[in-house]
Amino acid sequence: MPKTILTGLRPTGNLHLGHLFGAGKNYVKLQDEYDFYLEIADVQALTDNFNNPEKVRKNVTEITIDLLSIGLDPKKVNFFIQSKIPEIAELTVFYSNLVTVARLERNPTVKTEIAQKKELFGNDGESITYGFLGYPVSQAADITAFDGELVPVGEDQLPLIEQCREIVRKFNSIYGETLKEPNAKLSETKRVKGLDGNEKMGKSLGNAIFLSDDEETIHKKIMQAITDPNKIKKDDPANPDICMVYYYHKLVNTEENQNTICQECKKGNRGCVQCKKELITAMNNFLTPIREKRKYYEEHPEEVKKILDEGTKKAKQKAEEQMNKVRKAMQIDY
Ligand code: ATP
Ligand code: MG
Repeated sequence: MPKTILTGLRPTGNLHLGHLFGAGKNYVKLQDEYDFYLEIADVQALTDNFNNPEKVRKNVTEITIDLLSIGLDPKKVNFFIQSKIPEIAELTVFYSNLVTVARLERNPTVKTEIAQKKELFGNDGESITYGFLGYPVSQAADITAFDGELVPVGEDQLPLIEQCREIVRKFNSIYGETLKEPNAKLSETKRVKGLDGNEKMGKSLGNAIFLSDDEETIHKKIMQAITDPNKIKKDDPANPDICMVYYYHKLVNTEENQNTICQECKKGNRGCVQCKKELITAMNNFLTPIREKRKYYEEHPEEVKKILDEGTKKAKQKAEEQMNKVRKAMQIDY
């Protein structure tokens, strides 16, 4: 039996470069070797978008198209919608007993995200909801409902996988060996920075280059990217290591071009405007094949729907089997 992979994305916006380099490239590589379940995590997206259901609904399709556009093959990957698998909600209730509120409040990912969502949760997180605080528990249910062994994710997700492993250990110690402890799998690029220099490009952070951005948008965004603030004049030498333009050249340009850019920048032989224009060209070249695939799926919405329906059906079967094991272990298999 091939090992099982479970991973998920929140339908809160389109995919960006962070998703592609931090997670998506790994999905494409792993799809040949594993039994792959890919969750469109609409329930999790609602934890901090409960007041905006239209946004979540729209992005279920959008994100599926993005994922198909980067080369995921629906014959190899089961795309499914989280809310269509009630077993996940059921597991979440049982797991809630196995984790303390204090432990959730200490979770570094949860802490960072609460701080980023001041508008929703208040300055000190005083308005944080029960649902948001508990989303790591529901994520543990996502993974274990499919017996997920490997979870390809970006670096920001590591504390959530650790939390899942703790829940699994606790479950097994009380109810007997039932669940597998999953392992996180990071990409070579663990975390992609934002256009504003922020440590994380995030779809909810306003600092992302989206795979679906058109040429005009790419132009506008890159022209505004942060460069070395000490470089005032065109021929001042600068430090490429603190420049976001060089940072993205390293992602999408050839190694030869990267070396030239780096050397010219350090010597003061390269202006930022020229450098940005070259990045715009490289970025558009990089995005062209992705845009072409996206266009195909936009023109064939019935195919996208079928992919989600079929994937969800397979996911439901798998989650039902797993739930039977869990109910038996917990002696609630009446
Ligand atoms: P949101 O702000 O709504 O949480 P997000 O951009 O964090 O959106 P998610 O859907 O939460 O996106 O994450 C999907 C996957 O992409 C996760 O595995 C996450 O670790 C990874 N990921 C997201 N942003 C980055 C990034 N900047 N660098 C590397 N990986 C990333
Ligand atoms: Mg996120």
